[in-house]
Amino acid sequence: MKFHNSKLLWNGFLRESSSGSGSSNNVDSSRTPSSRQSQLDDVLGNLQADPGLRTRMIDYDANMRDDVRRSYLQKGPCQPRGHNFPITNMSGINRRFIPQWFDEFDWLEYSIFKDAAFCLYCYLFKTNFEQVSSKAFTGDRFKKWKKGRERFKMHVGPVESVHNKAREATTNLMNQNTYIETAVNKHSDQARKAYRTCLNASIKCTKFLLLQGLAFRCHDESVTSSNRENYLELLQFLADNDDKVREVVMENAPGNLKLLASCIKKEIVNSCALETLDAIMDGLKDRFFSILVDEARDVLVKEQMAMVLRYVDNKGHVIERFVGIQHITNTTSSSLNDAIDTFFSRNGLSISKLRGQGYDSASDMRSELNGLKTIILREQLCAYYVHCFVHQLQLALVALSKKNIDIASFFATANSVVNHVGASCKQCDLLRGQLQEELVITFENDCLITG
Ligand SMILES: [Zn+2]
Repeated sequence: MKFHNSKLLWNGFLRESSSGSGSSNNVDSSRTPSSRQSQLDDVLGNLQADPGLRTRMIDYDANMRDDVRRSYLQKGPCQPRGHNFPITNMSGINRRFIPQWFDEFDWLEYSIFKDAAFCLYCYLFKTNFEQVSSKAFTGDRFKKWKKGRERFKMHVGPVESVHNKAREATTNLMNQNTYIETAVNKHSDQARKAYRTCLNASIKCTKFLLLQGLAFRCHDESVTSSNRENYLELLQFLADNDDKVREVVMENAPGNLKLLASCIKKEIVNSCALETLDAIMDGLKDRFFSILVDEARDVLVKEQMAMVLRYVDNKGHVIERFVGIQHITNTTSSSLNDAIDTFFSRNGLSISKLRGQGYDSASDMRSELNGLKTIILREQLCAYYVHCFVHQLQLALVALSKKNIDIASFFATANSVVNHVGASCKQCDLLRGQLQEELVITFENDCLITG
């Protein structure tokens, strides 16, 4: 569709540029392009197919001749093969046009109206090579059917003949179209390559920022800003160091293909997330796995459920992969279970391969997570529940402190020291200095002993 429109555009361009290439009594320079176009449409719509009835090329508006020529060339020569060619008595012998002549001469045309032969190429271009020559096959009718074949060959003549010049002009006119079509194709190929380079640069920037966990945007992204967002600065950096990138990004990209809109960036980020998730799932394959689930509230006070997959690879290494955050509208155990189910089905995971589940249960969702544990266990008995070890340690220490006054005072003192020292840079320096001295003394003592 795009190509088709371009072609039309180019044809329009040709029409405009061909004005003034010849003189005509019909030219009206004050005519607007739209009225000129409608006049051309009118002319092209009323072209006579029968060569005996056609308007002479010289009588057409100079600006329209090439369009008329193209139209006739697209239709091809008028060769009514099925016609009942009339018999004429010539010097006592009945003669008529032989349709087999069409097979040998691709330029040959026959007028039913005049019962005469014509030449398409000479009709179209003879005016360009006006010289003393026979008007046969163009203006005057040719109907000497005796030795017709020989006469047609004579019409073609040597290389420099009017007919051959007209034929060459025809080829050039059609090649001009082909050339322009190729140029348009080449142009769209270049545009495609440029777009690909621009997209690749955008993906590189996105991947880098995601890998480093950096923000994409900042408060001032305007052109006058001394420090635009990370994304724009990184893209500028790439452009400054790669001519191919510089030619197709930022201000050098087409207005609607800069790929700088936030929705485009989000789309690229989402694509990266999907690719990453696919890679994680490829690593997991059909191994047994466990899930670790935690809930948190983000800065917008939206409840989020974070999930980690844990499995053992072929080398015996424990692999833990964070697989995403899911916004949950309510925190009941059944909606948590629904979110997990959705994640499983979206990534082709089967609960039959689930061998463990772990939550911290420290939050106010303890009962919901306990409920979730029960729901999952009902579906998969082997999904053993393991309480978060860090949280278990914390629970054990709290319980112990409540029973033993020495341990309680130790943690109270440790807490005070950490708070007191941590709050002051001076105190931190003092503490580090003291630790360093102690370490030096220890090393010296070790050396004395081993020495
Ligand atoms: Zn000819």
